[in-house]
Amino acid sequence: MSLDVDLTRDALVSSTLSHGLGALGDRWTVQVLLGTFMGLRRFEQWQQELGIPRSTLSNRLRSLQQLDLLKARAYQQRPLRHAYHPTGKALAMYPAVLMMWLWERRWGRIRVELPAQLQHRNCGRRFTPVLACRACGEEAEVTRLKLQLRPVSALIHLKARVSRAPRIPQGDTAHIDLGLRVDRWSLLIVTAVVLGCHYFDQLSKVLGIGPSVLSRRLEGMMAYGLLHSEVDRYDARRRIYRLTDSSRDLLGYIVCLSSWAEHHHLHEPSSIIPTHHCGHVFVPQVICSCCREPLRAWDVKPVYQARQAA
Ligand SMILES: [Zn+2]
Ligand SMILES: [Zn+2]
Repeated sequence: MSLDVDLTRDALVSSTLSHGLGALGDRWTVQVLLGTFMGLRRFEQWQQELGIPRSTLSNRLRSLQQLDLLKARAYQQRPLRHAYHPTGKALAMYPAVLMMWLWERRWGRIRVELPAQLQHRNCGRRFTPVLACRACGEEAEVTRLKLQLRPVSALIHLKARVSRAPRIPQGDTAHIDLGLRVDRWSLLIVTAVVLGCHYFDQLSKVLGIGPSVLSRRLEGMMAYGLLHSEVDRYDARRRIYRLTDSSRDLLGYIVCLSSWAEHHHLHEPSSIIPTHHCGHVFVPQVICSCCREPLRAWDVKPVYQARQAA
């Protein structure tokens, strides 16, 4: 199967994934947002849990409010103090959050701070989030979805806006590891491989990344076990890049985040259209493994290891 590099590049550049990731910006923003789903509401709580510098945290809380993902509500008048609550737009991201939780449980390195298990209030049982097709309700294997590319012209020339922020000095320890190792570029590279880019030059063209930066990123991903490479059987000068079990497992998160960006953020159709074997365009839904009901943020109770032992 030959790869249409131009089509793939245009589809990736205009994808809701690329623009959604661009809007969310850096890993701190994602972590502050994920903290919300773990019940963090106040400035000091984030600071304590994430070990995030004050100025960085105020900056991220501001950008999350601008994105209409957090809403500030005063809980004390003198001195004035705010608590930050997730908006409906943020709650719509819950399927992606569950997929990230699942991935971190399977592949993440630091597990202690994450809830060990999740309990569904509706059925009372501890469950595993299951990705399903909204149209037919059946469980979906993301690797078996058919992908169709239809670049969205309105989004091709609109550069994905990435919120620029001061770099965090290395050595700062984040207590919550969620999303730290899987940044925006890793997710875009994984998506490019899924779309059929297996060679260095293809990845470079499709992602618009220069050779030295790309080789550093690919090496980093291989070191984390997110990519696997081997010498091409047909041309020993080339290497061929493939997904690993852990990066294949990221597809659930990628699909959920793309769908969120399409329906709740950009309000533009996705340029990468997945179709389920039932024949419908695949819209992800995350359901409870016990009762098969769709999971909503307020119906899920985190169960922490320590409390479990007590
Ligand atoms: Zn289906
Ligand atoms: Zn349930």
